[in-house]
Amino acid sequence: MAISSYHPPTRTLMGPGPSDVNPRILEAMARPTIGHLDPAFMDMMNQLSQLLRDTFLTGNAVTFPVSAPGSAGMETCFVNLVTPGDKVVVCQNGVFGGRMKENVERCGAEPIMVEDTWGEVVDPNKLQDALKSNPDARIVAFVHAETSTGAQSDAETLVKIAHDHDCVTIVDAVTSLGGSPLKVDAWGIDAIYSGSQKCLSCTPGLSPVSFNERALEIVKGRTDKVQSWFLDLNLVLGYWGTEAKRAYHHTAPINALYGLHEALVILHEEGLENSWARHAHMHQALRAGIEAMGLSFVVKQGDNLPQLNSVVVPDGIDEAAVRSTLLNEFGLEIGAGLGAMAGKVWRIGLMGYAANPKNVLLCLGALDAVLTGMGAPINSGMAVSAARQVLSTD
Ligand SMILES: *Cc1c(COP(=O)(O)O)cnc(C)c1O
Repeated sequence: MAISSYHPPTRTLMGPGPSDVNPRILEAMARPTIGHLDPAFMDMMNQLSQLLRDTFLTGNAVTFPVSAPGSAGMETCFVNLVTPGDKVVVCQNGVFGGRMKENVERCGAEPIMVEDTWGEVVDPNKLQDALKSNPDARIVAFVHAETSTGAQSDAETLVKIAHDHDCVTIVDAVTSLGGSPLKVDAWGIDAIYSGSQKCLSCTPGLSPVSFNERALEIVKGRTDKVQSWFLDLNLVLGYWGTEAKRAYHHTAPINALYGLHEALVILHEEGLENSWARHAHMHQALRAGIEAMGLSFVVKQGDNLPQLNSVVVPDGIDEAAVRSTLLNEFGLEIGAGLGAMAGKVWRIGLMGYAANPKNVLLCLGALDAVLTGMGAPINSGMAVSAARQVLSTD
């Protein structure tokens, strides 16, 4: 085997993440590596924390990117806030709520599950009932934007119910951050984690997190050791916590952090609310095309995420063959169904830099052509025009 430099093929990424990365971010990541304790680097870290506060819409002092992907942000929240023996209410309406349950169990705590049908949002009444029957529960955890189905739950209401029952909240905002409205302080979210590679359109491998005082009191008040050394906030904050004095904990992924900094600069040049509006508009255009084809969405309109669109695969069509044709002939990646939805849906992402008119038209045109070629029962030749009509209105 002759091995030389690796050059990836050109792709358009319209799956559940990673999303297309703005070339400005890749360029920022190619800048020279400096020391992770260099004062110049620390200035960048301070800016990065502030940019993240402006994105989460929070004043939380403890707001920083964990040096690992979204799953590590999830673990950071659970291992620090959940102590053995705790009762934790976990709302599950898709794959990622199941991972929260796993985390609770691995922390030696007891998950109380609130289950909703996949494709639907978390039902606030069910959470209310679970908290009434479990007055000793201490924490409520849920996924704001369930990427496995495309459902967007009402985080503000769920947090309010949790607080009425004196519970601290852990919220998964991996797919929502930057793509749809999320207001950490206004909604009272106590602990939240996200990911770099979805609507922030950065490379994968970083997980922005934020903790309010109420959450930090739990962490600081622990008498036992947090089970993970790497994710123990009491230790990590020696590096990320104090702007005045930073001490070595682990070597920060320096160039990856340049990338996230640039991604957030780009986001705020556009404006957070403008970014939410762009995602919504691109979703409307995609929806018009998908529906003109005669295909349908999994999630009821109004409960859906703009940035992740689960589309039902027509009867008799091999969904994997469609995806591989899109990839091989159009260089276009869309996602498969996860878990219970495997084989039944496609997941079309409109995330960050990838949420643009050209991508919407490419995706609809390609899907139309491939499905028509397979003899699928769709209205051929309608999708692109329907989307163009939406795109012509701002
Ligand atoms: C992608 C995703 C994660 C996991 O993030 P990774 O970066 O893949 O570890 C967690 N929760 C949700 C809702 C996600 O979409």
